Formats: sequence, C-alpha cells, structure tokens
Amino acid sequence: MLTWVNFSPFNRQKSRFLVSKEKLLELAGVKCKVTVDDHTCGKELNFNTREVGTVIEITCSCENNHFWKWTSSEVLDYKNNNRIFVHDSMLPSSVIVSGNNYAKFKLFFFQALGLCLISESTCLHFQKHCAACIVEEV
Ligand SMILES: [Zn+2]
Repeated sequence: MLTWVNFSPFNRQKSRFLVSKEKLLELAGVKCKVTVDDHTCGKELNFNTREVGTVIEITCSCENNHFWKWTSSEVLDYKNNNRIFVHDSMLPSSVIVSGNNYAKFKLFFFQALGLCLISESTCLHFQKHCAACIVEEV
C-alpha cells in the first residue's frame, strides 16, 4: 500500500503537471495496440471518461472486446470499497499548510486554471479526519 508521506505535497519525488483531458486521450492513440499470437488488434478505440474529484478515469475498448482502464492518480487507501486518491488528498493538505481556505483555492484552481476539484464538504471531511493530524506530524 502507498503511504500518504510518499505522495504528499511536501514530497518532491513525484513530478506533477497540468494536462488537459484531450492531451491524455492522445496518449492512448486511435487504434488498439493489444497483441494476441503476434498479431496486433488494430481496431478503432472507443473512449469513456469519468471525472471524480481531481481524478480522471479513462476506459478504453475496441470491438474485439479488448479493454483497459487508466486512472490519473495513485490510490492512497481504500475505505468502504472506495478508493481514496492521492491527488484528492493534496488539496485539503495544501489548504491547511498554506493557511488559506477552500474558497481561495477554488477561485485559483477551478475558476482561474480550470482544474477539477473535490467538493468543499469532501475537503473539510478529509481535513478533519486525515490531513490535520498528518500536518501536525510534519
Ligand atoms: Zn483490440
């Protein structure tokens, strides 16, 4: 399991970038690259995207039933069979460390940069149950 410390905003071992959904989809290409018995499928790919909080899930399939799913964040932990993503944890932690509030972060990240965010209630929940006690240790 990954630990919060390894992926926290204070850890600079991971590089993070702003990227659009369209640029991410370019990475997948337009043709299926699955190889079976030394033969590449080559069928046209179909994409579905789902945005939850700061995370995007890209599901890709072709008419030969090849399928893969990619998620833009590492999983920090699981709770009630739900994934808690590292990227979703970064905003609440950053709000605490910077001494700002959710509204200011939303103004900058959502309205100015157009980034996807977690809701304010999710942010407050994470701060109360996870981030505050971790920040105290830093
Ligand atoms: Zn295929």
